[in-house]
Amino acid sequence: MGVRKGDTVIVISGKEKGKKGKVMNVDGDKVTVEGVNVAIKHKKARNTKQKSKREKINAPIDISNVQILCKCGKATRIAHKIEKGKKNRICAKCGEVLDKKFVKAKEKAKEAEEAEVKDKDEEKDTKKPLQRREVKHVAESKVKKTQVTKQVTGHRQIGGA
Ligand SMILES: [Zn+2]
Repeated sequence: MGVRKGDTVIVISGKEKGKKGKVMNVDGDKVTVEGVNVAIKHKKARNTKQKSKREKINAPIDISNVQILCKCGKATRIAHKIEKGKKNRICAKCGEVLDKKFVKAKEKAKEAEEAEVKDKDEEKDTKKPLQRREVKHVAESKVKKTQVTKQVTGHRQIGGA
């Protein structure tokens, strides 16, 4: 089935049909879904120190009774997609990646990439004026016909400082 802990699922058959919830645990062919198949167990006080109480028991249901509920709003089968050598679960209907960990990692990588691009842009901005200045100096020195070589080297030192 490929349903994992943390997935949002919808019950497609059985007495809890139509209920949605988050997978709390997967154990073999059984799945415990938050708010699905909740039984109230009455615990009766056995002595005067104990109090009678009702306990909610979230019982597991058959994994074949649930389907992944995708962000696209559809109950779906799970398809697989291999990206960068890693197998990811995707929605068979819309292709959305279902693995939250992967999605988060992807977002982080994107953010890091954007930050890097920003850094490079800033670097360019600081370099550009220097380059322009240098070109200007070279052009100026070319205008002066005497001692061209000496002036160029002198201006380059200023430009580099
Ligand atoms: Zn989908």
